[in-house]
Amino acid sequence: MRIKLIAFNGRYIHSCLALYYLREELRRRLPGALPELRQFTINDPYYPTLLKIGEDAPAVLMFSVYIWNSELILRLLGDLAQILPATRFVLGGPQVAALQPTHLPDRTTLVHGEVEGLPDAFYTDLIENHLAPQYRAESGRPFPSPYRDEDLAGELSQRQVYYESSRGCPFACSYCLSSVARGVNWKEVARVKEELGFILAHHPKLIKFVDRTFNARPERALAIWRFLAESAGETVCHFEMAPDLFTREMFAFLADLPPGRFQFELGIQSTNPATLRAVNRVMDLEKVGENIRRLATMGNIHLHADLILGLPGDSAYSCRHSLNQVFAMGPHHIQMGLLKVLPETAVNSTPGLLHAHRPPYEVLATSTLDHPTLRQLYWLGECVESFHNNRYFTTFFKYLRNSDWEIAAFFGDLLELCRSRNFFSLAATQELLTGLLADLVRERRDGPLLLEILRYDWLRCGHRFLPAALGESDLTECSRELARSMPPNLDPLYEYRNRSEFLKRHTFSRFSGRALAVFGWSAPGDGVVAFLAEREDSLHRHQKTILLPA
Ligand code: SF4
Repeated sequence: MRIKLIAFNGRYIHSCLALYYLREELRRRLPGALPELRQFTINDPYYPTLLKIGEDAPAVLMFSVYIWNSELILRLLGDLAQILPATRFVLGGPQVAALQPTHLPDRTTLVHGEVEGLPDAFYTDLIENHLAPQYRAESGRPFPSPYRDEDLAGELSQRQVYYESSRGCPFACSYCLSSVARGVNWKEVARVKEELGFILAHHPKLIKFVDRTFNARPERALAIWRFLAESAGETVCHFEMAPDLFTREMFAFLADLPPGRFQFELGIQSTNPATLRAVNRVMDLEKVGENIRRLATMGNIHLHADLILGLPGDSAYSCRHSLNQVFAMGPHHIQMGLLKVLPETAVNSTPGLLHAHRPPYEVLATSTLDHPTLRQLYWLGECVESFHNNRYFTTFFKYLRNSDWEIAAFFGDLLELCRSRNFFSLAATQELLTGLLADLVRERRDGPLLLEILRYDWLRCGHRFLPAALGESDLTECSRELARSMPPNLDPLYEYRNRSEFLKRHTFSRFSGRALAVFGWSAPGDGVVAFLAEREDSLHRHQKTILLPA
């Protein structure tokens, strides 16, 4: 029996964990079947995708349906039903509960719940070709790792490897699908280590733990981390963490990790206590701030903080305040995502909440945020995404963090400038971003200093020229001046024999004493910074810098 399992991922590097689970269950329960797994992205061209899925007239096509791909799958089903008159369609995944059977081809079966809990009847009906319209799975069954050597050595070697050491979430935020199914299914730590060891033997670039709250049991999280620290080598590990649930032991462990080995996604959503109460989100805000600041100061873990726009009870003021507070904590990435009002979640019944009627059900307005205000906040979030969430301006934003500039107001001004320059229709190159920031700060009281900081950040990214917006200082002139004035030997940087090579290989720029102080040097006056050809062993891998002796 030819069974094809189809996934549509957001990007090529993603993979669909659910489909690997499904394949393993089919192999286990129907030893004769040879399920074939095919992954596409939602951006692949439609017609060739339709042809590839319909090739060889499979007996059964199974799809994994999420809010981000359900519209595409519905469109495909309509066309596949015409070209594959004998094929049966099976749909599973979190978005299945929201599908209307009347909108689906009549040969469609909906599967609700976890694949490991499907009743035997599903498999016998599948073999006998009389599947019922719907099946419900029991939850809480064991879920062994679904990967095989050939997956990890083949298709997954180019993609992120998803892994879950626990299923479900102990919390119950009213906007989240994980809160609909209660309880958590924890896998034994010994088992987790064994499965991770198998995955790590293939040296994937990144393992993404999809545990909804990885540190819900801190001791358990720490035991898995210790194993990863010993066994993961260069593999980067990504975790979704509750920012208030870090223990002293966790900090002690994390402090010793090499830079970039772990990434944390930290769900904050709002710093408005009334909003958190309204969405049933339990979080100690004081601890959140304290912990993220501490992690940011350690500087070896990439920190991605999530805020949600359009939660019940949030206003323009509280959303801006959340941004100000989270920015002050110092995460590397701040995401201001729109609330998705999923049909089966409790938040859906909030009075005054308007949302798109089709997936992904983005919020349009709430009783405390009218649509124009939400629109403004959305574009503000896009500005944060473009300018803040990269490695280009780390010193610049660090300076703003310690200045009197309210960051929400800063991004508000930047948004106005971006709109006036049609920024959102242009390619957001580092040069364009730098030019806009330079134009925004040029006339400020501390404008000259901010322009120096932008120049420093630009050169730390490895450029050997200056963009027009920062062109006042001539790098060539600085090198010429050094060629005239530098001593013949400068231990440990060069000896007379390689003096000219030193001057050729690296990039030099002069900065004021005030700017040097911002970069962490204390100098009596101006000084020249050398931007070396080598990179730092740090999170952002900027160029190494040294201040040349006066
Ligand atoms: S938002 Fe996060 S913490 Fe809240 S229920 Fe969902 S997965 Fe759990």
